[in-house]
This record gives sequence, structure tokens and C-alpha cells, in this order.
Amino acid sequence: MIHRRDAGATWSGNHRYHATEVLLPGDLDELAEVVASAPTLRVQATRHTFNDVADSDASLVSLERLPTRVEMVDDRVRVEGLVTFAHLAPVIEARGRALHNLGSLPHISVAGAAATGTHGSGVRNGNLSSAVRALDIMDADGRTHRVDQAHAWFPAAAVGIGAFGVVTAVELQTEPTYEVTQQAYTGVAWDDIAGDPERVFGSSRSVSVFTTWGDPAHDLVWAKSDDGAPDWVEQLGGRPVGDDIHLGSIRTVDNTTPRGTPGPWHTRLPHFRADALPSDGDEIQSEYFVPFSAAREALAAVREIAPLFAAELLVSELRTVAADELWVSPAYRRDALAIHFTWRNHTAEVLAVLPHIEAALAPFDVRPHWGKAFTMPGEAVRATLTRVDDFVEAARAADPRGVFRNDFLRRTLGL
Ligand SMILES: Cc1cc2nc3c(=O)[nH]c(=O)nc-3n(C[C@H](O)[C@H](O)[C@H](O)COP(=O)(O)OP(=O)(O)OC[C@H]3O[C@@H](n4cnc5c(N)ncnc54)[C@H](O)[C@@H]3O)c2cc1C
Repeated sequence: MIHRRDAGATWSGNHRYHATEVLLPGDLDELAEVVASAPTLRVQATRHTFNDVADSDASLVSLERLPTRVEMVDDRVRVEGLVTFAHLAPVIEARGRALHNLGSLPHISVAGAAATGTHGSGVRNGNLSSAVRALDIMDADGRTHRVDQAHAWFPAAAVGIGAFGVVTAVELQTEPTYEVTQQAYTGVAWDDIAGDPERVFGSSRSVSVFTTWGDPAHDLVWAKSDDGAPDWVEQLGGRPVGDDIHLGSIRTVDNTTPRGTPGPWHTRLPHFRADALPSDGDEIQSEYFVPFSAAREALAAVREIAPLFAAELLVSELRTVAADELWVSPAYRRDALAIHFTWRNHTAEVLAVLPHIEAALAPFDVRPHWGKAFTMPGEAVRATLTRVDDFVEAARAADPRGVFRNDFLRRTLGL
């Protein structure tokens, strides 16, 4: 029997879904029934987005009652149903395998993360979608298509923003397991961070810089390395912080992953532990991608206007993402600097400051994170995505009746 519940709100409560209900099929046959009878439908996964990307003006569907499966197929892992990275990681670690990277938290769904180009950090690390090798996608008639790398839709569907149908299975590339040691440091001067981003972001597997754009006491370099504690941060004056980490105005209370000791990749790459509430919780997030080659100028442009947004900021995080070939990925064909903002959960005030940031970053062909708050008009978004027309054509071919389209896709991509 197909269950139903209220659509509710996003994880942080900043967006209440307009959809009238969430449908909860118990197996793939019931999912096909839901899909084939819906005039319009979007998937609600773990709800860790900060805008209406997952919304619908009719129904949502969740895979949370479908059976889940995580299995190794040669050097790939195949996940079926609503599987999170917290669920997936220990299973493949037990088989001696790993993913190339993880985001700041493992609580999110694999399909939802891939759909929006979710990323961690590292100049050599593509976003999490770049590990996708195949998808099973149920179309609006309830038929399932395997979209692998040989399929014409693949470069569109791997960061598909939910426009291709319901992803019922994802196959990800794995690699041999590895250990990571992480440490967070205060004391690195902003001029060293912004003046030599190649050194700061390129010297460890994954580097994040937390900043409030002015107060050096809040600047924190968080480095994750394969080969023990990195000496480059201490050469720049960095001092390891103790247990009590402050990320700007976010005081992390016993929710971060262990620092100072080596451990399996999935216990160190996310900042936040799987068994605790990540980040602040009462927040909105935005994130913008500029070419890494423009990092110095882009950082200077944001810092110059920081007084305009300081009152709403909890913290910013700077990360890097390696270029990929996925048509509407924020890292499509360019290595990116990702400039992230965690805001107070004040929708009106945050929406009022975002245009200032977007204007400051416009000269750098800025692209927004699909899952986070932004105000850039559709024309500006599309202007930075050279393959957006191919994406739209593929999505229309996959979903000719437009069942999986919503206001977000119409507004931002013209779909
Ligand atoms: C505390 C916190 C930390 C975060 N950290 C990071 C980070 O480190 N890096 C980063 O890049 N982002 C980060 N994000 C953003 C988040 O990872 C992304 O927005 C991601 O898309 C969330 O996935 P979800 O499944 O929770 O979202 P949902 O809102 O449930 O879904 C996201 C999109 O994917 C679609 N979708 C989901 N599942 C399917 C499916 N099975 N088939 C078809 N479409 C589907 C939805 O329709 C929607 O359009 C963070 C968010 C939070 C709240």
C-alpha cells in the first residue's frame, strides 16, 4: 500500500515545501504506479537543500520505504533506494574500498548529492557526481532505463537536478581504501591564504578554509592529508586548535570527526560525524563557484563587500573542486574555488544580501550551488553553463511530458 505524509520542510526548516503531500511507495512496482499516475512529481530525499529545487506544486515521492541495497560490482559500488553516505561508507570500507571524497557530512543521500553536484574539497578531487558511472532512472511511464557512461544522456543525468526521472540506483567508482589524518589550525594569515591559494589548497588531499572575512581569530585552515600531519600549515604559522572548534559563530559541540590521528577515509573526510547533528542546524546555506584561476581576485571582491553581509553570516568555507565533464556541474570544464556561506536562518535578510555577493562575483562567471540559496536570474545562471541547451534537450527527451519539471528548473534552466 502506498503511504502518504505531509511534505514538511527542508532539514533546516528554511523552505516549507509547497507540495501537498509525499507519497511513500513500498517497492518498485508501487513506485512505478506513483510515477505513472502523477501529473507532476519531484523526489524528496534527505531534504538537505536550502531552496525549492526538490519542490513540486503537486506531490513529492520519497524512496524511504523502498528496500535498500549496497553491493560491490567489481570496482564499483551499486546503491539501490534511499542510501546515505553514512550507510554506504562502512559497507565498502569493510570490502577494502573507498570513495575518492565526501562532503562535509555523511547524512545526505547518494542520489540527492549526485543530483546537485555536491562536493568536498581538494584540487584533484572532482565533486561526488564525478564518481557516478551509471544510474537506473525510472521515467514518467514507470519504465527504468540504465544510463551509463556510454549513454547520450549521461553527462546531463549525472548532475541531473531531478529532471530525468526517479533515480532508483546509482553506481559509483571506488578505489582502494586509504587513511586520512586531519587537523584544524588557527594563525595562518589571510594574506597567505588569499595570496597563495595554490599552495594552501594544493598541499593536502583536501583543504577547507573557514573565515568570517575580517576577524583573523575566525580564520581556520582545516587540512586532511594522506601522509600524517602536514608541515606546510605550521610553516605558514598555523597552530593546531584543541577540541573546542569555533567555525565563525558556530560552536561545534562534540559533533566533528577526530583530529590528529589517522583513520579510515570516511571517518575523517566529513567534518561532521554521522551520529551527531552537523553544522548549526538553524541556518541557510549559499555557495558560489568561480574558476580557481581567479581565486585571488574573487576572494578580494567578496572581502571588500563583507560589511554588507557580516550581520547575517555565521561562517564562510572555501573549498576547491576539480573540473569535470558533467554539463550543468558547477565544475564543468573548470577547476573551481567554492565560496560557501552559512547564514543565520533569516530568509528575507539573506535573500537581500545575496545579490551583492552575486554582483561581486559576476566578473568571474560565477555559478551557484543547485541545492543552496541564490538569487541569480536564470539568464545569468545559463550564461555560465555552455552546455545548458544540451542539458535541456536531453531532459526533454527523457521526460517529454515534463512530469519531473518544477518552478526551480523552469526559472533557472528554462526547462
Ligand atoms: C548541514 C549541511 C551540510 C552540507 N554540506 C555540503 C557539502 O559539504 N558540499 C555540498 O556540495 N553540499 C553540501 N550540502 C548541500 C547538500 O549536500 C546538497 O544540497 C544535496 O543535494 C542534498 O541532498 P538531499 O538528498 O538531502 O536533498 P534533497 O533536497 O532531498 O534532494 C536534492 C535534489 O535531488 C533530487 N533527488 C534526490 N533524490 C533523487 C532521486 N532518487 N531521483 C531523482 N532526483 C532525486 C531532488 O528532487 C532534489 O532536486 C549540505 C547541506 C547541509 C544541510
